[in-house]
Amino acid sequence: MKFDVVIIGGGLAGMVCGIRLAEAGKKCAIVSQGQSAIHFSSGSFDLLGRMPDGTEVSDPIAAMAELGKIAPEHPYAIMGEKFCAEHLQQAPEILRSAGISVSGDCRKNHFRITPMGKMKPTWLTIDGYLTTASSERLPFEKVCIINVEGFLDFYPEFIAEEFRKQGVVCNFGTINLPDLERIRRNPSEMRSVNIARVFDREENLEVLAAKIREMASGCEAVILPAIIGIGRDDAFDVLKSKVNTPLYLLPTLPPSIPGIKAQQALQHRFRSLGGEYFLGDTVLSAEWKDGRVKELFTANHGDIPFRADHFVLATGSFFSKGLVATPDRIVEPVFGADTVFTPDRAEWYTLRFFDRQNYQAFGVRTDRSLRVVKEGVPIENLYCAGAGLAGFHPVQEGCGAGVSLLSALFVADRILKGE
Ligand SMILES: Cc1cc2nc3c(=O)[nH]c(=O)nc-3n(C[C@H](O)[C@H](O)[C@H](O)COP(=O)(O)OP(=O)(O)OC[C@H]3O[C@@H](n4cnc5c(N)ncnc54)[C@H](O)[C@@H]3O)c2cc1C
Repeated sequence: MKFDVVIIGGGLAGMVCGIRLAEAGKKCAIVSQGQSAIHFSSGSFDLLGRMPDGTEVSDPIAAMAELGKIAPEHPYAIMGEKFCAEHLQQAPEILRSAGISVSGDCRKNHFRITPMGKMKPTWLTIDGYLTTASSERLPFEKVCIINVEGFLDFYPEFIAEEFRKQGVVCNFGTINLPDLERIRRNPSEMRSVNIARVFDREENLEVLAAKIREMASGCEAVILPAIIGIGRDDAFDVLKSKVNTPLYLLPTLPPSIPGIKAQQALQHRFRSLGGEYFLGDTVLSAEWKDGRVKELFTANHGDIPFRADHFVLATGSFFSKGLVATPDRIVEPVFGADTVFTPDRAEWYTLRFFDRQNYQAFGVRTDRSLRVVKEGVPIENLYCAGAGLAGFHPVQEGCGAGVSLLSALFVADRILKGE
């Protein structure tokens, strides 16, 4: 099989890179082993929430200029403030072109609410989810937080505890329906996706709306866990149209409905542009010629090679097995690329879970064009994009999706410019 570009990994980075290249007329394939981090997403895309020293960021573009000075190996610093600033509009456009309706401003972070009710600075949030412009002020003073009876991946009490710190009065409501009783017989079935399937049915949506109307009486807003719209895109809009009070969604613990929907939408967009998507296949090895990758071999295609002019490594970090930790080193399993890590294992992590963990900044070594380095030499036609890059702390700095989106565009840009 011959393509212009083969992308390994179908997460946010691989998908966006593939869409950008396919939009520009490149014949692309994405080979992806399994689901990606986006399946666990909060429904928000973070750009830069904190500086490496922990200072909160309000204007990510201004902060990127500073980042270049204090963290020159950060992917944003490598791509450069100019590239990032110029391409920050392209990322939401690509999401919207796939049907993922997002709002946000790269010059001013807003705040998303975590499943535990905490506020985190972010860049883009899928429409319908509760956000606030300021971490000190919610857009209501009295709210009704509704949960489904027996649903354990959403915590109204924790959320209320946080909201009360801002003087918000919180009422609670619980929903039950005969169709929910059926899935409740097995507690492991009470997950967001199964519940959402119940509310894909018009009659259940109608009952839900009626119950919300009843429980919301006297409240300025209603909060629901993200348990709506897995099988139909209009479910939340239909529900809102039946309820007079403003209705907001909050993310639940995984599986994430906004994440699953986003993944499906990106995949659909890539395919509609002529891209070929091989889900459930694993790239195992590569053949080389004259310092270039010539072809890839996968688990499902055996000795049938994937040939291309360019390749993109978008296999993610430890979570997606794009990086693997052995007792004494960090390995990139497909190409055996050089990796960035501290040799002393004792420095990889601290036992305090919420501390800044060094291992999170480990990743694939690249040159300043994000070409993968192997045995000290950049490989001419192999780039790295996304969570597998070194030099950043996605959780602590709140920059996971931003790095994936911008590096995907950066790599696509390099390939399109023929560098
Ligand atoms: C649990 C979790 C939740 C997160 N939530 C958020 C959030 O809400 N907001 C935010 O801004 N950031 C979040 N992040 C940060 C996240 O890293 C980025 O947002 C982004 O989604 C990462 O995308 P990616 O494409 O770089 O990597 P991944 O999403 O990790 O995708 C890598 C893909 O490569 C595939 N793959 C790996 N090896 C191979 C192989 N050999 N052959 C073929 N395919 C392979 C994997 O199966 C996977 O599909 C989260 C991260 C995690 C781990």
